[in-house]
Amino acid sequence: MSNIEQTLSIVKPDAVERNLQDQIKNEFKINGFKILKEKKIHISKDEAEKFYKVHESKPFYNDLCAYLSSGPIVVMCLQKDNAVSENRKLMGATNPKDAEEGTLRKKYGISIDKNSVHGSDSVENAKIELDFFFKD
Ligand code: UDP
Ligand code: MG
Repeated sequence: MSNIEQTLSIVKPDAVERNLQDQIKNEFKINGFKILKEKKIHISKDEAEKFYKVHESKPFYNDLCAYLSSGPIVVMCLQKDNAVSENRKLMGATNPKDAEEGTLRKKYGISIDKNSVHGSDSVENAKIELDFFFKD
């Protein structure tokens, strides 16, 4: 049985700064994801705070929001069978040091904060996050 899902991916400022967005987009394509929508944007700190609201109570919240709004990002709607978990698998662990060989964060991530990509962590959050960036 197929289980087509859509998920949000973000190429974070550290990766856009190194001009890695095409390479990362290619990784999605060769791993069977369709890129249904994409745009390059530069969000404000206020918008980043809204996006990462679930992390409000965490000690790293302020730095995280400052970071996501520090430069351009590329946001994408990815589609594949089980896209949410497939994307999380392709991304690897939050900390690039712990990420498995071949994952995006292992290949491109610099540190736990500059870990190059974001991916929704559940189907429910994917809907909320896709709405956040792509609702007209
Ligand atoms: N993060 C951080 N310090 C930490 C944990 C997380 O800077 O100790 C950042 C990291 O960039 C991560 C983001 O906060 O991607 C969101 O954290 P989450 O636990 O949701 O990780 P993810 O879902 O991105 O793997
Ligand atoms: Mg997360």
